[in-house]
Parts: sequence; C-alpha cells; structure tokens
Amino acid sequence: MSFQANKATAEIAEEIALRCQLNPAGTRRIGNFGFIELEDGWGDEATIVNTARISSTNKRLQSLADFSDKDRALLYLLLKDNHGTPFETVYFRYRFIAPIFVLRQWVKHRVSSWNEFSMRYRKPISAAYIPDTQARSVDGFEVLSDAAVAEYEAMMAQLFDWYERQYEQACERIDTARAAGEIPPKEGGRDPYRGRARELLRNVTPVAAYSDVYWTVNFRSLMNFFALRRKPDAQYEMREYADAAFDLFAARLPLLAETMQRVLNEKQAG
Ligand SMILES: Cc1cc2nc3c(=O)[nH]c(=O)nc-3n(C[C@H](O)[C@H](O)[C@H](O)COP(=O)(O)OP(=O)(O)OC[C@H]3O[C@@H](n4cnc5c(N)ncnc54)[C@H](O)[C@@H]3O)c2cc1C
Repeated sequence: MSFQANKATAEIAEEIALRCQLNPAGTRRIGNFGFIELEDGWGDEATIVNTARISSTNKRLQSLADFSDKDRALLYLLLKDNHGTPFETVYFRYRFIAPIFVLRQWVKHRVSSWNEFSMRYRKPISAAYIPDTQARSVDGFEVLSDAAVAEYEAMMAQLFDWYERQYEQACERIDTARAAGEIPPKEGGRDPYRGRARELLRNVTPVAAYSDVYWTVNFRSLMNFFALRRKPDAQYEMREYADAAFDLFAARLPLLAETMQRVLNEKQAG
C-alpha cells in the first residue's frame, strides 16, 4: 500500500492479517486492501429439508451425512420450484472491506442486514482501491494508462493527507478553546467536538476509499445476490467480491452450492 496508513488503517490491516491466519479457509484478500471473510453461519442443507417437511413428517435429519438421494432430490425441487421460505432459515455473516463504490452496489440488496464503519468515531481507512492491470483491461486492452493510474493514486493520497492535516488542526483548535475555557471540558469517553470534525472531514472520502462492513444474509437473498452479481455484466470489482463470497459459501455448504448452481444454470438456459 502506497498510502500513509493512519492508526485505524494500520489496526485494520493487522486485524485482516490475523483473520487470514486464524481462518485461512474462510477468508480471502481482494485487490490492494480488500478482504472478505465468511465469519459465521447458521443452518445447513438439513435445516432446509427439515423445515420443508414440517407438514409431512416428524423425521428430522441431523446433518448432510444423513442425506439420501430422496433428500437431495427434495432440496433441488424446492429450489427449482421457488419454495422460498425454507431457504430463508439458513443465515450467513460475512465481513468485508471493499471500496465504497462496491458497497453502493452491494447495499442495494435490501433483504439483508448491514453494519458499516461510520468514520465518526475513528478516522476513515486511508487506503483507496487502485485498479491493477487486469481491472483496467477489456479484452487485453488497457483503458487507463500507467500515467493516469499514477495520477489517480496521487490524488487519493492527497485527499487522505488533507484529511490528516485538517483533523490535526481541528484538534488543536478544540484543545486551545478548551484550555481557554471557551468550550466545556471533555466528559466520558467521546469528545463531541472531535466527533463533529470527523463527521465533516469524512465528506472528502472518495468512493474508491475502502470501508468495512458486516453483512448478514439468509440463503434465499444470498442466492439472488450471486445470481445478479456473479454474472458477466456485473462490474468487475463487484464480481470479484461476489465470486469470493460464493467460494467461501461453497466450501462451507457444498451440496447447497452445487444445487443452487444447477438451478441457476437451468434458469439461464431457459
Ligand atoms: C448489472 C446490474 C446493474 C445495475 N444497475 C443499477 C443502476 O444503474 N442503478 C441502480 O439503482 N441499481 C442498479 N442495479 C441494482 C438492481 O436494480 C437491484 O437493486 C439490486 O441488484 C438488488 O436486487 P434485488 O432488488 O433483487 O435485491 P433485494 O433488495 O435484496 O431484494 C430481494 C427480492 O425481494 C423483493 N423485493 C425487495 N424489495 C422489494 C420492493 N420494494 N418491492 C417489491 N419487491 C421487493 C424482490 O423480489 C427482490 O428480488 C443493478 C444491478 C445489476 C446486477
């Protein structure tokens, strides 16, 4: 990373490295500062089949190990015929660090829960997405030159530097005013004056800057996300995250991933 890392950025970078070390199968690094982790989940293929059988039997499957061909066939038919609610009973919690322009597309998937780094209580991540050669190429042709990307990178660095300088000056103003008794002394953990400065200064954060999100989603909505965001017409960077989210999900629930892919392929083929 060629940006001057502030404290929040250095801490997040350290945390990403630790998560990759602790959960190598559940994490993936993307781009120059990006990251995704499938942190946790609830339910599996057995949860779905058991839910669907509420009206027909009291026999419950414990896990995928109990699955017969009949159970596999039921899973497929439920998905193919849009029996949606059993698929809403299985949940996933992802954490990702992605450029804000990717977040703006992701957040359109309203049937899910979002928690995003506000930049109000800490400084923003002082790293911006830099497109590599593949990201700026269409059929091998580079639409942006090296010089353009170098200038882009310099502009991002300037914005982060500006933030740092202005924040430092704002803190000095606040400290001076406080020492002179012009504003009330700080009480408790958070300083509302510094908080307001961070709130205003975050406005210069470019959409290429990285932000940090927890995303909680049920399988029905996740399938819709994969169907829309892994397609070739989705933006390259969005697809990188959607593909990584899919790989992490498929490693956790391979039968569900395989069944979903079969249904999506069949729908696409008409
Ligand atoms: C290639 C691509 C280009 C796009 N371009 C743009 C763009 O230019 N501008 C833009 O703003 N968005 C754009 N989108 C976003 C797109 O319009 C959807 O908002 C986004 O993909 C989320 O899909 P969704 O609504 O199915 O998901 P969710 O919001 O998660 O909804 C899931 C499902 O719930 C149901 N649902 C949710 N909310 C409602 C509702 N209010 N009324 C009725 N049913 C509802 C629908 O069945 C929906 O499919 C684009 C998406 C793609 C994949």
